[in-house]
Amino acid sequence: MKTKINLALAHMGGREQEFIKEAFDTNWVTPLGPNVDSFEKSLSDYLGEQQYVTALSTGTSAIHLGLILLNVQADDEVICQSFTFAASANPIVYQGAKPVFVDSEKDTWNMDPELLELAIEDRLRITGRLPKAIIPVHLYGMPARMDEICEIADRYGIPILEDAAEALGSEYKGHKCGTIGNMGIFSFNGNKIITTSGGGALACRTQELQRQAQFYATQARETAPYYHHKAVGYNYRMSNVCAGIGRGQMMVLDEHVRRRREICQIYTTELADVPGIEVKRNPSEAFDSNFWLTCILVEPSKAGFTCDDVRLHLENENIESRYLWKPMHLQPVYADAPRYVRGVSEYLFDTGLCLPSSSMLSDDDIYRVADCIKSLAVK
Ligand SMILES: *Cc1c(COP(=O)(O)O)cnc(C)c1O
Repeated sequence: MKTKINLALAHMGGREQEFIKEAFDTNWVTPLGPNVDSFEKSLSDYLGEQQYVTALSTGTSAIHLGLILLNVQADDEVICQSFTFAASANPIVYQGAKPVFVDSEKDTWNMDPELLELAIEDRLRITGRLPKAIIPVHLYGMPARMDEICEIADRYGIPILEDAAEALGSEYKGHKCGTIGNMGIFSFNGNKIITTSGGGALACRTQELQRQAQFYATQARETAPYYHHKAVGYNYRMSNVCAGIGRGQMMVLDEHVRRRREICQIYTTELADVPGIEVKRNPSEAFDSNFWLTCILVEPSKAGFTCDDVRLHLENENIESRYLWKPMHLQPVYADAPRYVRGVSEYLFDTGLCLPSSSMLSDDDIYRVADCIKSLAVK
């Protein structure tokens, strides 16, 4: 049996255990502590543009807190990209609000600005109210068309919460993803570009919003000598042990992003001549994806095989690949949610595949994956 090539693996830089040891040695084995402060500082330095970062237990909790700070309440509507992981949409429901799904456009695979505007107009016509927030996603690290999305959002006065869970290090027109809308979130789950084993962050534009995020993330505890609460809070803070991993990971983040881009480049070159296979690339110079995962589309009429044939063929060779995200508007749990779609995300789901893209994979590993796909093409 050939050695297994995984889709995405945690990739430690080497210093992580020092920072964890420091947490133990100083007995900061707690939520909050010096590692959390330091991790937040290095994230905000990395993002630039005056970001106020709060480290949290997960990316999902970061989205939830973002919606709370945007005052999303029961029966409000929130527009969300349909082509995404369920964690983008679920926190809308935690608030008792209703997701409205918008399809993707072909170049970025992210929120289609035209459909966004159509959705806003239609919701206004049907409900008499504007949606309370917009959640575009930078899927697989590819920036969404933020200029167009922000222009529309501004015109209607609707705030944007950017889901940059997969896009730490990606840039749109020189701006880091997650810093362009009103707020941005990141995930440090085990398979993301850097990891804290599990974790997330919310990036806000003002210190006051950061203060509120930290308040709600620590049970909404008021300053008093006893436990005093005027609002419902959450236990969403990152632990000082996890933040130690994060500090070490920040030291290798640039290297991880560089390597992911390089891996995508190797796939692009290797698969360039395979009919019917298209490797996802930046649509123009405005977009600079971190290529968290390299994705391909397989057009069966041109390739002579389907994306599932590729997946099974790779699996036989002990190589893990995965379907693209199944759009939210196709998920049974969201069967009743309004949707503004025109087939793009459905087409992507039907024809797309994520290829192994871990920053720890060698060039030879990538050649092995590419050769395996090419061998299917000549059969
Ligand atoms: C991973 C992910 C999240 C959620 O992050 P967790 O840290 O796993 O809670 C949200 N949105 C997208 C697009 C993701 O990929």
